[in-house]
Amino acid sequence: MKYYSLNKNAADVSFQQAIVQGIAPDRGLYFPKEIKPLDAEVIANIHKISNENIAFQAIHQFISPEISDASLKSIINQTLTFDFPLVKVEKNIYTLELFHGPTMAFKDVGARFMARCLGHFNKQEHATSHNVTVLVATSGDTGGAVANGFLGVKGVNVVILYPSGKVSDIQEKQLTTLGSNITALEVSGTFDDCQDMVKKAFLDNSLKSENLTSANSINVARWLPQMFYFFFAYKQMKKLHPEKEIIFSVPSGNFGNICAGIMAQKLGLPINHFVASTNINDTVPKFMASGKFEPIPSKATISNAMDVGNPSNFIRIQELFKNDVNELKKTFSSYSFSDEQTKFAMKEIFEKSGYVADPHGAVGYLGLKKELENNPNALGVFLETAHPVKFLDVVEDTLQTKIEIPEQIKKVLHQEKESIKISSYEDLKTYLKSR
Ligand SMILES: *Cc1c(COP(=O)(O)O)cnc(C)c1O
Repeated sequence: MKYYSLNKNAADVSFQQAIVQGIAPDRGLYFPKEIKPLDAEVIANIHKISNENIAFQAIHQFISPEISDASLKSIINQTLTFDFPLVKVEKNIYTLELFHGPTMAFKDVGARFMARCLGHFNKQEHATSHNVTVLVATSGDTGGAVANGFLGVKGVNVVILYPSGKVSDIQEKQLTTLGSNITALEVSGTFDDCQDMVKKAFLDNSLKSENLTSANSINVARWLPQMFYFFFAYKQMKKLHPEKEIIFSVPSGNFGNICAGIMAQKLGLPINHFVASTNINDTVPKFMASGKFEPIPSKATISNAMDVGNPSNFIRIQELFKNDVNELKKTFSSYSFSDEQTKFAMKEIFEKSGYVADPHGAVGYLGLKKELENNPNALGVFLETAHPVKFLDVVEDTLQTKIEIPEQIKKVLHQEKESIKISSYEDLKTYLKSR
């Protein structure tokens, strides 16, 4: 598959170039040249097909022929080593739990898939001299998933920047205890400072020889595998309620996950409506109301993985609807909720059903409830994007309950933290050049 830049001022590239570059030279996001719906038989028989095979069918056209079918199958098998259960919360309301991976964040799948694709290309080129460095800024969750996904992948080094004192203890341990090809840089500053340093590094010609790439959802190899979730949810729903219309509510920050859901719909998955549920960082809900896209600096909330004021992937969603807002509105709505509403929803869910939702999932629940008012007979699914333990303090305070720490988290809590402290862009550059 060839990819073009959404800024339309750069040459088309292969999948390999798109993943290694991350972003096009004209600063545009890469987008596939073509999207072919799947064979209707695959959708009709989805309940009889294994997750690995569904994933292969869904992503094959975007990767082939550069990665052979056999290698792609093996990459998928190594990526999908955990479950994606659909759990009933209320009548006609389900949640798709995306937190059963090694770091208990939904970003595990994209990170593991991207890491294995990069590893595959490196192996092909026998190139230790072509080492790639994945540079990533994190407010908490992305870093852990990327670090874990890339751990031990040959020819790929990972450098993670995180704001000192501003990530949770669990998140810090997940970032700083892996060793091997993973290095954590502890930045005295905020997440925005980390992000600015990373952006500067990508544009810095004196760092060209370091082969820097990104591992956030701008990268096609991290974005596209998120389509799998919607297929896995549909597979489980089809067994329960084959006749009902389906609404997905996706807690959204950078809008990569929901954009992948719309890709799944374009591939033929019968989804009726998408809700992009946000916290008070409401650039997209405002756009849907006014038609004006006006990014603003992000504001801090309890659903902090969605504190994004300028959602990068929304431009991909617009491309999928040929930049026609009226077409978009037919299958897409976006609503924003405050921290107060989020906590209230967490309590409501817990009291009604005993289910413990994290703040991100609760925002998804709120958006779903709102959309179901327009279509009360539909079947709704909200995505649970992180395990509540990742947001332990807020969840325990709000629900007045104790959360048991899962095994994969306990394991890292005992390990020794290792980080390098930096405080300026010059420090970052010095580190990258000194390796
Ligand atoms: C990253 C993240 C999100 C937002 O996903 P996008 O693809 O950026 O919209 C939501 N919840 C959690 C827990 C996350 O880590």
